[in-house]
Formats: sequence, C-alpha cells, structure tokens
Amino acid sequence: MTLAAHDMKIQDYGCLIDGAWLPAAGGEWLEMTDPCDGSILARIARGGSADINAAVAAARKAQPGFARRPPVERVRLMNAISRRITAEAERLAQLESRDTGKPITQARNDAIAAARFFEFYAGIADKVMGSSIPLGDDIVDFTVREPLGVTGQIVPWNYPLQIACRSMAPALATGNSIVLKPAELACLSVLEIARICEEEGLPPGVLNVVTGLGSEAGAALAAHPGVDLIVFTGSVATGSQVMQAAARNIVPVLLELGGKSPNILLADAAVETTIPILLKAAFPNSGQTCSAGTRVLVERPILDQVMDQIAGRLPSLTMGRGLDDPDLGPLVSAGQRRKVESYVTIGAEEGAEVITGGAFISGASEETGHFVRPTLLAVKSPAARVAREEIFGPVLTIMPFDDLEEAEAIANATEYGLVAGVWGRDIGRLHRLAQRVRSGQVFINCYGAGGGVEIPFGGTRKSGFGREKGVEAIQSYTQVKNICLRIDMPEGA
Ligand code: NAD
Repeated sequence: MTLAAHDMKIQDYGCLIDGAWLPAAGGEWLEMTDPCDGSILARIARGGSADINAAVAAARKAQPGFARRPPVERVRLMNAISRRITAEAERLAQLESRDTGKPITQARNDAIAAARFFEFYAGIADKVMGSSIPLGDDIVDFTVREPLGVTGQIVPWNYPLQIACRSMAPALATGNSIVLKPAELACLSVLEIARICEEEGLPPGVLNVVTGLGSEAGAALAAHPGVDLIVFTGSVATGSQVMQAAARNIVPVLLELGGKSPNILLADAAVETTIPILLKAAFPNSGQTCSAGTRVLVERPILDQVMDQIAGRLPSLTMGRGLDDPDLGPLVSAGQRRKVESYVTIGAEEGAEVITGGAFISGASEETGHFVRPTLLAVKSPAARVAREEIFGPVLTIMPFDDLEEAEAIANATEYGLVAGVWGRDIGRLHRLAQRVRSGQVFINCYGAGGGVEIPFGGTRKSGFGREKGVEAIQSYTQVKNICLRIDMPEGA
C-alpha cells in the first residue's frame, strides 16, 4: 500500500521504507495536533521495531551502490532537492508553523535553512578528499574519507525541518544511507522533505523515515546492530539512553543535546541596541530552542538599565497562533507548559524575583493553547536550579557580576555548554571571556542562536559532542581509511 504524503488534505502519513510509503507493521496511527487549539492536523504511522528492522535492511542494501556512484551525481541530486525545498518553502513553512506552533516568520527561516543545508553540502559532496603521506620512494600511502554506512537519525520536535535537513544533507553528501525517526509531537515537514527527496530521484532505500514513539521506534533504532552511526538531537536523559543502547553494539554516536546559554553584557555594552537582540536570542520558538540565550549576565554598573529595558519590553511581545506571526507562539504541548510553569514556581521558592511574566495566558484551557507569558526572573545564586537547568520555554534569568572572573564562573556554572554571547567594546575583555566560557560556539556582539549553516555547531559537556553544520560535519559522517601500496613486489614473492 502506497500513501501519497504530499496532499495537505490527505491526513495519513505512512513510513517511507525502501521507496514505499507504508502503514506501520502494527497497523496503528498517532494523531498530530495543532498546539494552538488541539485540532487534529494529520495521523502518522506508529512504527515499531519491525518497521525499523525493514528500514535498516533497506538502508544497508541501498548504501554501497549509492556511495559508489560518481560524487557529482550527489551534487546534482542535492542541488535539485534544495531547489524543490525553495520552491515549496511557503507550504513547508506553513506546515511547520501549524505542527510546532512557531511563528510563521521563524518557520520561513527554517525552510530557507533546510534548502541551504542541501545546497551547502551539495557543494562539498565532490570535494571530500584524503591526503597523501610521504613514506619514501617505494611506497605510495594515502587516505580516503569513507561514509560510515547506515546512519540512524533521531530528530526532536522543536525544529523538525531544520534539524532533519541538518543531519540528512551531510550524511547523503558523503554517501551514507539514512533511517530517520522524527519526533511524535511534530514531524510533518520531515515527511514532506522525504517526499521531495524521493520525487527528485533519491534511490529507494537511501532515505527511510519511520515515524512513531521514542520508546518504540526510537529505542529500536538506537539499539539496532545494523546501524553504523547514531545521530541524536534531543534531551540529555534520552541522549544518555541512546548512547548506552548504541554502546552495546559499539556504534558511534553524535549527540546534540540541551543548553543553558548565557549572554554576558560587559559594562561598556551598547545596551539600547543589544536588548532587542537578546530578546530574539532568548525567545525563538517561545524559548523551545537548544541554543536559546536564556541567561543574561550583566556587569553590575549597567544592571538596573538592562533589567528595566528587558522588563519594559517583555509585556509588549505578542502571543498567538503561529500562522498569525506573533512574537511567541504556544508551547508544543500541555506537558511542556506544565514543566515551564513548575520552573517558575521552583524559581520563586529558590528566592528568584519574578520581574515580569510568570503565568500562562488566562482563558487557555488545560489541554490546548499552551501559551506562557515571556518571563524575567532575577536570580540570586548561580546554584539556583532556574539558573542552571534547561527550562525550554520563554523564561529568561538575569544575574549581576562584578568582574571577569565572576562572569566566567557564573557562565560555566551549568552542566551545559552549547552557545554563549559576549557584548561590549573592550576587545581584550571580550576575547578573554570568549576563551574562557565553556561552549561550542561564542558570539561577540551578535547572537546566532545556533549559527548559520556554514559554521560548526555542537556542544561541550552535557550539551553533547560531535559537530553538525559547516565543513566540520563531514568529519562526523565519514571515517578515514589509510591505504598503503608498496610499488615493488616483496623480494622472493
Ligand atoms: P527528547 O529527548 O524527548 O526526544 C528527542 C527524540 O528522541 C524524539 O524523536 C523522541 O521520539 C526520541 N526518543 C525519545 N525516547 C527515546 C528513546 N528511549 N530512544 C530513542 N529515541 C527516543 O527531546 P525533545 O523533548 O524532543 O527535544 C528537546 C530537547 O532537545 C531539549 O533538551 C533541546 O535542548 C534539545 N535540542 C538540542 C538541539 C541541538 O542541536 N543541540 C536542537 C534541538 C533540540
């Protein structure tokens, strides 16, 4: 049975396995709801271990042939996919906005980034080179970068479109095949990308998508011995489980996990122009962003000014349905909203002052319309849970510091290390902090919220390891083989 996944009116999205859209082996479906009002958007197949087994088998079969074709074919194919994503960008953005709840402008940016991932890695696909190693006249020694084989990719719900393409594009560019498990809370755009790849001529079995629950399809993929690399983007708790499952098969993992990223304002920062950027950094996708700058650390002389300006602006941020393009959409689920609210309570119990926000919008029912007002918490100690733990909602904490050593200590007082921003004019102090903050990326007088397609992205400590994006991602999806050739036959052979 083949299900067309491209018509918005068609409500059922099957799994893509070996070039066919199929219902799950177990025959069950999961409902996908609009987080704004709880209405049903579509149904996805509830895939499980049988579907993962079939997908891994298809990916194993398809990968060698795909990798052995001239790389220029992958260049052309990926460029064609990029053009199709661009052509369908508005449709993809609307679907992403409805599925995740995020403002349409942000979803449009995600669609642009998705196309750009395919374009960027298309440009690299025929330039993955090795080196030659001089060992003297009699020996030719060189390295080649080989694909790992079958990549198992597990994607979260907050940026399905971007994150799926971020991992798919370098994997395909380097000749790997894919079994992708998107998130059960939001994944419709990923299925549309799979449909585009298929229609543009990606050979059957090279990309397989199995939808379903994390505890079923996700766990089966992480534990599968037929996978050569697990790429996991999601929470620390699940990342740890995935890593343990992969370890049993000695399968390498690339983990992109959470964050608690600081923006550090030195006393000579340009406060007026910086604050709007800080708010954009803190609340993309209503704060449900791994790289969101959710902590503001301020050198004491400008503390009151920064606090007043943030507190003054937050109440005027608009909230509403993603398609109406507010500043903040709803959180993805009732569970996520309850988690965020519980953190506000924890913060208050720890002595933090709620400067503004701190409540979900009255009138929203318990199960639908998961809106939380943008919230500013003045925190007294870096040891407070709200200052250390990822809240994953529109909650910004603010803390003062008196010198660079204290700024560094507070910035590094979480178990995460994904992104940091430092702001000011004294280039020496800025650079000193950039060196000392433990973080995979540091922005100076800007904040990329994860950065562009071209620059390496990934964490330190509990934010994970391995790098996505940029040329660096090629290392993550390939391995080096050394080939040593002696020119003459050995004596006496
Ligand atoms: P999650 O860990 O709950 O789920 C992520 C994915 O893992 C989903 O597809 C889910 O179905 C699957 N999953 C769940 N249980 C599983 C299991 N036992 N085995 C295998 N797979 C399983 O995370 P989430 O709530 O979807 O995403 C939010 C988290 O992701 C946040 O911590 C956020 O910071 C992080 N994140 C990180 C990045 C990054 O690039 N560093 C990007 C986006 C999100």
